[in-house]
Amino acid sequence: MSQDMAEVIVVGAGLAGLACARDLAAAGREVLLVEAAEAVGGRMRTDLVRGFRLDRGFQVFNPAYPQVRRRIDLAALRLHPFTPGFLVADGRGGRLRVADPLHRPAQALGLLTGRSLPVADLAALAALTLRDGLVPARVLKRGRETGTEEALRRAGLSRRTVDGVLRPFLSGVFLEDGLETSSRMFHLVWRSMVRGRLGLPERGVGAVPAQLAAGLAPDRLLLDSPVERLTADGVELAGGARLRARAVVVATGAARAARLLPGLVVPAARAVTTFYHAAPVSPLREPTLVVDAERRVLNTVVLSEVVPGCSPDGRALVSTSVLGTAAQEGEVRRRAGELYGVDPGSWEPLAAYRIAEALPALPAPAVLSRGTRFGPGRYVCGDHRATGSVQGALASGARAAHEVLADLGG
Ligand SMILES: Cc1cc2nc3c(=O)[nH]c(=O)nc-3n(C[C@H](O)[C@H](O)[C@H](O)COP(=O)(O)OP(=O)(O)OC[C@H]3O[C@@H](n4cnc5c(N)ncnc54)[C@H](O)[C@@H]3O)c2cc1C
Repeated sequence: MSQDMAEVIVVGAGLAGLACARDLAAAGREVLLVEAAEAVGGRMRTDLVRGFRLDRGFQVFNPAYPQVRRRIDLAALRLHPFTPGFLVADGRGGRLRVADPLHRPAQALGLLTGRSLPVADLAALAALTLRDGLVPARVLKRGRETGTEEALRRAGLSRRTVDGVLRPFLSGVFLEDGLETSSRMFHLVWRSMVRGRLGLPERGVGAVPAQLAAGLAPDRLLLDSPVERLTADGVELAGGARLRARAVVVATGAARAARLLPGLVVPAARAVTTFYHAAPVSPLREPTLVVDAERRVLNTVVLSEVVPGCSPDGRALVSTSVLGTAAQEGEVRRRAGELYGVDPGSWEPLAAYRIAEALPALPAPAVLSRGTRFGPGRYVCGDHRATGSVQGALASGARAAHEVLADLGG
């Protein structure tokens, strides 16, 4: 098959495009995956900077997502787990350890400084965790829907615990601190956290899309080829070259999809910045997420405690994330030092990733899975058509492949 004619062209080799292309190829269709960048992965890429392995924005990998279990060889990723739960730090020496109250009741009581959650809140959190862990996902998807804050209060959690513990943690998950994200999304995310041990692949999150791409024949992937526009019978690349296909699937991420498919309605985007620093000494000798009780930053973590090989020289790799794209390195480094209780003066700045379109907003009421048909022979998929997550992106790609196959027929 030549590269200028395919049955289906998929535009964008992030997780959604990769899942779609893989499913189409598995069904025996001639598919061409066309990617603007020099490598696959989209928002899940990993860079090597002065020998340090840096993900393009801090993220965690959840092996419990159904689409992940279906598609990914987890053993090959060599996952390194985080400590279950997280620490809430106030920057003045106060720390509270929050662990899964069902599996680690002793830790859930706040071991570090003796501070703990009120007993009623621990009980409410345990009940919420038990329910979300056990109830099937399809039931959670249909449950009563509010914003996340209201759902937490309805679950019996006090304002103090919501504001002091859960808001700081969840604002790093949803990349918004109003907790307006749909409660259905919250329960699904909570469920997947309860059921799976969060971790990171040994070679960074980029190993996930790389593994999916490795399952495609090399001539089915066209890198460095930004699609400029869709034509009547395919696509036109930035250089003017035209590729023909019976169907085109746009898997580019929301903003670019709206440009390629005029009239497509896309959600607002959540933005985040991740700063990476090399520290001569690890400021926390455990693979644990630290969240900021005052929300001056979202969270910070010593990544080299999670994956020792991400540092080339024994220095600690510290990742600190902040909402939005405007944060200054010096302020963020100072705050991270306060949260760890160390002087960060000798930390070397390695990189800052400012990501304006990190996640699609998903306020209530939300549609957790949208169809992918846009017009005759045109389809659109990606996390903005489902949920802003690895699960959402893969599931949307799968749905696009399914709908293309149904429409192309035998
Ligand atoms: C900082 C950060 C943290 C995150 N944390 C988590 C987490 O902890 N857990 C979780 O589940 N999810 C997390 N996510 C979300 C998850 O990474 C995304 O939902 C998922 O990767 C989106 O995949 P996608 O295929 O929909 O889009 P993208 O990854 O954006 O892929 C789109 C692709 O299209 C390409 N493209 C764009 N325009 C064109 C064009 N004109 N022609 C050709 N190609 C084009 C792009 O280069 C890109 O490769 C995080 C995301 C970010 C940014």
